[in-house]
Amino acid sequence: MSASKFFVARTKDAIRAWRSSVSGQTVGFVPTMGALHSGHMSLVQRARRENQLAVMSIYVNPTQFGPTEDLAKYPRTETADLTLAQQHNADGVFIPTGSLYEADSAVRVVWKGIESVLREAEARPGHFEGVMTVCAKLFNLVQPTRVYVGAKDAAQCIVLARMVRELDMPLELVVCDTLRESDGLAMSSRNRYLSADERRRSTVISRALFAGQALVAADARATLGALDDVVRKTLATEPTLHVEYVSLADLATGAELRDRALPIASVKQVLLSFAGKIGTTRLIDNVVLRSR
Ligand code: AMP
Repeated sequence: MSASKFFVARTKDAIRAWRSSVSGQTVGFVPTMGALHSGHMSLVQRARRENQLAVMSIYVNPTQFGPTEDLAKYPRTETADLTLAQQHNADGVFIPTGSLYEADSAVRVVWKGIESVLREAEARPGHFEGVMTVCAKLFNLVQPTRVYVGAKDAAQCIVLARMVRELDMPLELVVCDTLRESDGLAMSSRNRYLSADERRRSTVISRALFAGQALVAADARATLGALDDVVRKTLATEPTLHVEYVSLADLATGAELRDRALPIASVKQVLLSFAGKIGTTRLIDNVVLRSR
């Protein structure tokens, strides 16, 4: 644990001043949109262990929300978030007041043609442009040694890894395991939207993904088609679930695997992901299948 006092930086100048006051020290950085839960805090704990200093950001980034998405109602729980950050021995939090963007902001980080590669990018046009742009800004402000991100947002991990690589950003991206509730549901700030009944029904998502994992464990020669069938069959047991997609992709590139006859074992790591809605709440989850 560091001896420095917990700080709350509310402006770009304040976070820059903090960073120059600790120049030469390693900084682990956890960018978030707040409404913090144990999943976020597991990232902080790891950042804490692997660096001299650990810092979080809390910013609901408008550029990554589509026009029909939940920007206005996204949960904002600042007081509880700051308490949690302090309890988990973060050195401080960057929580900007107002917008991080210039009034005439026009510059964006773009992955050309992303919607034809990543299924999640096809589902949320413009989303990853917003994610990459805000992360580039946050990385420039915080200048972290390492950035900690959750495997729960698998497409985001693929996108950020590529941005860091292609833009030669001087930092290491560390992907951390998904934290789940005891019944399997992946922790998410959006779980707060679920009614008790929806919350109960939502466990079908992880059950379906785990059924896919079990198939691969039992039969390394199973095909992608068989895997897809098992997952969809389990999902279909919950008729109120609206399935947006079940995706099978090569984890290395994020590219969709479309050949149903392909044996799972022929791909090093298959990313099996789900996106869909229970009621009006959009949930995503994934598992990585390693057959060899
Ligand atoms: P968010 O506040 O939803 O933007 O998430 C901030 C970071 O926490 C992202 O890197 C997420 O992938 C990560 N995260 C969110 N939920 C979980 C979880 N259940 N387990 C691990 N990491 C998570």
